[in-house]
Amino acid sequence: MASPLLLAGSASAASLALIAVSWRAHYLARQLRLTQEMLARAESRTQPLSAAAGALDAIPAVDSWLSLPSRSALDALWDWDVTGDRVRFSARWRDLVGLAPTEVQGSTEEWWGRVHPSDRAQLQVDIAAQLAGADARFSSEQRVRHEAGHWLRLHWAGVILRDAAGRAVRVTGSVRDTTSQRSAEERQRRDSLYDALTGLPNRTLAIDLLRRAILRTRRQGERRFAVLSVDVDRFNLLNDSLGHQAGDELLRGVAQRLSTAIRPGDVIARLGGDEFMLLLDDISEFSDAEAVADRVKLVLTAPIKVIAHEIVVTASTGIVLHDPAIDEPTDYLRDAELAMHSAKNTGRSRHERFQPEMRDGVRRRVSIEQDLRGAIDRGEFVMLYQPIWSTRSETEQLLGFEALLRWDHPRRGMLGPGEFLPIAEESDTILSLGLWAMSRACREMREFAPNVDGAPWVSVNVAARQLADRGLATSVDEILDYTDLHPSRLRLEVTENVILHDEETARLVLETLRAHGVGAMMDDFGTGHASLSYLHRLPIGTIKIDRYFVGRMDVSPECLEIVRSIIALAKSIGMEVVAEGVEQPAQLAQLRDLGCHSAQGFLLGRPLLAEEAYALLAALAHAAGESPRGILRDLGLVSGLQPATATPAREIEAG
Ligand code: C2E
Ligand code: CA
Ligand code: CA
Repeated sequence: MASPLLLAGSASAASLALIAVSWRAHYLARQLRLTQEMLARAESRTQPLSAAAGALDAIPAVDSWLSLPSRSALDALWDWDVTGDRVRFSARWRDLVGLAPTEVQGSTEEWWGRVHPSDRAQLQVDIAAQLAGADARFSSEQRVRHEAGHWLRLHWAGVILRDAAGRAVRVTGSVRDTTSQRSAEERQRRDSLYDALTGLPNRTLAIDLLRRAILRTRRQGERRFAVLSVDVDRFNLLNDSLGHQAGDELLRGVAQRLSTAIRPGDVIARLGGDEFMLLLDDISEFSDAEAVADRVKLVLTAPIKVIAHEIVVTASTGIVLHDPAIDEPTDYLRDAELAMHSAKNTGRSRHERFQPEMRDGVRRRVSIEQDLRGAIDRGEFVMLYQPIWSTRSETEQLLGFEALLRWDHPRRGMLGPGEFLPIAEESDTILSLGLWAMSRACREMREFAPNVDGAPWVSVNVAARQLADRGLATSVDEILDYTDLHPSRLRLEVTENVILHDEETARLVLETLRAHGVGAMMDDFGTGHASLSYLHRLPIGTIKIDRYFVGRMDVSPECLEIVRSIIALAKSIGMEVVAEGVEQPAQLAQLRDLGCHSAQGFLLGRPLLAEEAYALLAALAHAAGESPRGILRDLGLVSGLQPATATPAREIEAG
């Protein structure tokens, strides 16, 4: 069946130009020229029938087409008689654009008048290009005004019907409201580029903006930029003590303050956690960037209101200036962060300029990371054993050993855990290393002494990632099984940080192990924030007083008081207590006075190689009555208070 419209006449360049005129105004001269050029090209082609012609028979006449039940309840149907310059819509169109059922519609003027002024030119180009081409499909999307005044995004999809000469005479199809789909896309785009907490650009967008600054500077030469990495000092401590909600509010407050420290046109972004980036445009001297760093300090001096508290924070800032030799955005971020960390390490609440030497630490880290791979298989790790003594009587009795890990690195020599554990903890390496340490310690302990009453035990340090894995209990059981170490001769040393990671799993694992006879010790007690509550909730049998307090007992009344209260606390809840880091005879005497009956430290033996530990046990067994400290001295196991591989007493700081 031929469409009456098709028979009614043929479209020509003139009639299409007329439509354009009837759509009046808004017709940019450029677009018209474009349209006409395309039409001229189409006219010059001699096409018998368009590709769509075969489908014509299947398409009913305009009126019946529009009265068909809507194929999709969401879509309106439209039919544009190109030659007659008339457009018709199905009833759904009224709902879409908010017209009352009685209102007439159907003129091309009405259609055109609804299109967003900024989208009209594009619609014209779409129409001109698609009608002039040979394609049978029509597709276009614009913003269209709803009667209520807001803008909808409508997608037009149609079939172009052509006459024998290939001229478009009718376009017919459906129109769909894609507004919500678009706003979901828009939201998704926003979420992926902006930080939800502060509304600031996130790391991804920051990198993009930085890339643009690099390109702009390359083009414009004289304009340089600076990147500042700003990190809130001790944020973790604040966050832990105030709670996460307050922590979030604090970060929002800091973000707001920081945005007052920069000029319009500069960028502030949140890179993650408590770290912000400032991208300063048009900086000619280092001192310009430094002035902004000073302003950052200034805007943070007034307290920030957080829930019921007024909090004063400081921040440390690292500064890096544009360098023509560097064009990777992440290199700038890394250098600014290095400078920021250096500012933190040298006192906080200050700023520091990036220096190339700062990269050396990173290089060392990267190289250690590479060397870690396969180090277990190459047999490069060793366990040292530091004796732990009962000090109840005048002559100490050996209770057991703490197993301490070392890496005998082929090039760097013997490395302490501080050099590689934090790196191992960033990957699964920590899991295999932890199990290796555990089985080596169990095996060697079994070799040191048979499973008899009073045989020494070994305590093994456990990392957070290990204790967050329910499988740990099974692995420990297996290790005890194949090394034949009695479960009562193994203890796990855990710190609060380790437990904090996943308390529920930690509790499950420790309870399972306790049921099997394996004990747990709370390590570094006193340095965390919530130790007491853990003691109640977890099956912990022993507390280890951190060496920070033991080492300062004689100079700091507070430290002495802390040691005294920990000992009293342990007694009151029926726990054992071990003092760590005993270096001086006076400290040992003091601890005895306070009622602490177990100790560990360089005075009582440094961490020993397996053969040294074995020699110590043999000497103790054969020298009844002799003073263990005399034996240690004779064997040279207390020589030097600070072996090169031991870590110095750490500072107690968070964040
Ligand atoms: P930690 O558990 O507090 O271990 C005690 C640390 O104090 C050891 O350092 C030890 O050498 C040192 N030390 C012992 N006596 C004294 C003393 O009288 N004075 C001073 N200043 N220090 C003393 P090390 O061996 O460097 O271990 C550092 C930390 O590494 C350990 O602290 C522990 O948290 C971790 N670590 C060691 N081995 C392992 C392991 O196998 N697995 C895991 N996850 N962590 C381990
Ligand atoms: Ca320990
Ligand atoms: Ca410790």
